[in-house]
Amino acid sequence: MKTVAVLGGGPAGAFAAERLATAGLKTILFDEKLAWEKPCGGGLTYKAYHEYPFLVDNDTPKKFVSETTLSAPRAGAVRMQLEHPLVIYSRMDLNRMLLKRAENSGAAIEQTRVMGIERRGKGWNLRTRCGTAEADFCIIATGARNPLREVGTEWGAKDTMTALGYYVPSTQDHIDIQFLPGLEGYIWVFPRCGHLSVGICGKGEPAHALRTRLEAYMTERDISYKEGKFYSHMLPSLETPGWRSNRVSGEGWLAVGDAGGLVDPITGEGLYYAMRSGDLASRVVIDDAHGIAEKAAAYRAVLAREFALDLEFAATLAKRVFLGSFLCSSVPARMVQYIRSSPRFRALMQDLFAGTQPYGELKSRLLRNLNGTLQEALMSFFLNRVIPENSRAVL
Ligand SMILES: Cc1cc2nc3c(=O)[nH]c(=O)nc-3n(C[C@H](O)[C@H](O)[C@H](O)COP(=O)(O)OP(=O)(O)OC[C@H]3O[C@@H](n4cnc5c(N)ncnc54)[C@H](O)[C@@H]3O)c2cc1C
Repeated sequence: MKTVAVLGGGPAGAFAAERLATAGLKTILFDEKLAWEKPCGGGLTYKAYHEYPFLVDNDTPKKFVSETTLSAPRAGAVRMQLEHPLVIYSRMDLNRMLLKRAENSGAAIEQTRVMGIERRGKGWNLRTRCGTAEADFCIIATGARNPLREVGTEWGAKDTMTALGYYVPSTQDHIDIQFLPGLEGYIWVFPRCGHLSVGICGKGEPAHALRTRLEAYMTERDISYKEGKFYSHMLPSLETPGWRSNRVSGEGWLAVGDAGGLVDPITGEGLYYAMRSGDLASRVVIDDAHGIAEKAAAYRAVLAREFALDLEFAATLAKRVFLGSFLCSSVPARMVQYIRSSPRFRALMQDLFAGTQPYGELKSRLLRNLNGTLQEALMSFFLNRVIPENSRAVL
């Protein structure tokens, strides 16, 4: 293979380009904006920096946050210590760092918009704002708003979430997660260096309604959205049929990150999957054991093995997590109550925050611990409500 074109320089494209160039392939990355403040919380889980330690071992500004508050209607709020901190970047800083690493590895970086791509024999012709280019292979990393219709995920209306919010010049030392009645989604407050990213994501609800919900929350919490900078974007959130028909590869191309729909449909985590898919795609491209025609199938297989099947399973749970009920109360309210009262359930939630709890094993872990969790919850209820505080000391 002579030349690989990487279309898009977000985390997925930049990391793929770094890996390809490090392996000695001629790599050209095209991005219309290069480093920019892409609408995002900017939170990286332990799973991401455990896999790629350079994400914490660097001089780029970032915030380590070890405490979170989860709140749900009728359950109040609960504080939870995270076993592994969430690392929060401004996207401008994260993108700049990843692009610099790609460039230092030998990738050529071109700031231009790719207008279209066409098959030329066994390779590609690229039309960009600055002229034309040729490539033998394409990595599609153009994000959730991929404008290249012939490559990358084809999603229906149900396969995306709206996500919007404000960057607010303020500080706090913990993360807030707020569940809302009737919303398949949630509000987050992520502290970054020098500002907060306060946002809401939701499925099946128009953007203006989400914005109203968010502004009401911010007003109640005394976070001024009037001083903030508004952002909004689309978040892939594939439903089960979407995962089954997901178009992540074809002859001469592989799609990575949001352009391949590779986002956790429950939490909205996409940064890890963007980088991981960029890494896996580059390995498939580099591997001479696969001919060009075989690379599409090899990539699909490795994605499924690594995380796509688990995310497909997560899609079957998403509605129940946000909108379901358990023992006559909403699931989010039960989550808050059990975090408060059950160490076993708290440990499970800490693993979910760290990204180390596969969804496919969630049910068996919950069932294994159900007796213990309920016992702990009942014991806590009994201690708090039935036995008065002052008499407990005497027992
Ligand atoms: C509001 C919001 C909050 C989020 N919060 C989190 C979070 O806290 N943690 C987390 O893990 N994930 C989060 N995500 C998801 C995360 O932002 C994405 O999954 C991630 O950015 C995907 O990376 P990517 O490289 O695939 O795409 P992108 O980051 O979108 O990068 C795509 C790049 O392609 C370029 N591009 C597009 N079209 C062209 C073209 N035609 N020619 C040239 N260049 C082009 C763009 O300029 C862009 O730089 C959030 C998403 C949203 C919307």
